[in-house]
Amino acid sequence: MERTSVKLAELKEAAEQVTDKDIASLAAQVDHDCLWPEHSMKALAAAGLLGLQVPQALGGHGQGLLALSILTETIGRACPSSALCFGMHCVGTAVIAAKATSYQIEHYLRQIAQGKHITSLALSESGTGANFYLPETTLKPEGEHFIVNGTKQFITNGGHADSYVVSAMSVQSAEDGDFSCLIIDRGTAGMEWLQPWQGFGMRGNSSRGMQCKDVKVPKRNLLGEEGDQVWYVFEVIAPYFLIAMAGTYLGIAQSAVDAAGEHLRSRRHTHTGDSLRHISSLQTLYANMWTSVEKTRGLLYEAAQRGDRGDPDALPFILACKADAAKTAIDAANDAMTICGGTAYRENSRISQMLRDARAGHVMAPTTDMLNNWTGRALLGLPLL
Ligand SMILES: Cc1cc2nc3c(=O)[nH]c(=O)nc-3n(C[C@H](O)[C@H](O)[C@H](O)COP(=O)(O)OP(=O)(O)OC[C@H]3O[C@@H](n4cnc5c(N)ncnc54)[C@H](O)[C@@H]3O)c2cc1C
Repeated sequence: MERTSVKLAELKEAAEQVTDKDIASLAAQVDHDCLWPEHSMKALAAAGLLGLQVPQALGGHGQGLLALSILTETIGRACPSSALCFGMHCVGTAVIAAKATSYQIEHYLRQIAQGKHITSLALSESGTGANFYLPETTLKPEGEHFIVNGTKQFITNGGHADSYVVSAMSVQSAEDGDFSCLIIDRGTAGMEWLQPWQGFGMRGNSSRGMQCKDVKVPKRNLLGEEGDQVWYVFEVIAPYFLIAMAGTYLGIAQSAVDAAGEHLRSRRHTHTGDSLRHISSLQTLYANMWTSVEKTRGLLYEAAQRGDRGDPDALPFILACKADAAKTAIDAANDAMTICGGTAYRENSRISQMLRDARAGHVMAPTTDMLNNWTGRALLGLPLL
């Protein structure tokens, strides 16, 4: 598997080019119009980046957590909604790739590697909320199919992705949390999309609810064995999701530092003739922002590298890095608003968008409260739940 620093640098450069050329210019419109960033996903597909998590033997890049953190940060610096859409596609891809059958390889992974297929993750439900590992959606075996019933909430790429990795409880299962994951293709009969997404932030991610009424899913779409959930949640979903989100929120934090630095240099008062960068309290605030962002990046890369190596001590790093990135993004956007003043407080200013987008970091499950608690439990040798 080619995960060298040269390969990573090439992927980062490709993502930077796509971000500069195709993603950045429409970021404000994505936010303003709640526009799902089709242009971003198409450009990432054309650059061959949708297959980041597909094994090289199947035409993908065979990358792990470090590449995911670098690419989501790169995209998130310009358009956080695009980073979230790309990140959730990558998490879904990693889940499919983890134990793919030959059918799933041909129908999903090869298509993803060729940039022809977008997937996403549908775990959350209104009944159990942030406790995403407790689905109430059911699956019932019937001949060569499963019959799926239930309602998912907040599915990123909702209505736009070609497939959805859905969690569901077997009706035969006695224990809570004993669920399975299966792939449901867009447009399968009985699938209905609920209201369009109108978020406070992350307004382009099309985070919609989906109702499944007697949806007939072929058994070949089951991922792994029935009841493989513990393995999927802890080995694949949690690390890929947490790293993708941490990268996205780090991207927002870095863009806040960039915007603050630009403003400090360019904004001049007429009564002094000096730019704001000569004011000592703002110099200190800017230095603190920069330090927090660098620390967050250090923790994220450490978590991603430990996860990629299969380090037995990786877990607390991976749990902590998303909570840390969410906090850093909100603090950095807030400080950037202080530095950029009334100009930034205007409705729809770039900084106000950063603050709104960053705020999703704490509420996306596992939420910051949950992650802080789980990090403590992992460090103390206690089970997470
Ligand atoms: C922008 C966005 C994109 C999303 N994308 C996806 C996606 O692609 N796929 C997907 O499956 N889901 C997605 N979600 C859903 C998300 O992961 C959460 O499941 C959802 O936000 C929970 O909302 P809720 O109102 O039901 O929370 P509630 O469960 O009502 O939680 C409310 C508060 O209580 C706290 N709380 C709840 N349970 C516990 C507990 N056990 N311990 C400690 N605190 C607890 C929470 O931390 C939170 O602060 C997305 C959400 C957002 C906002």
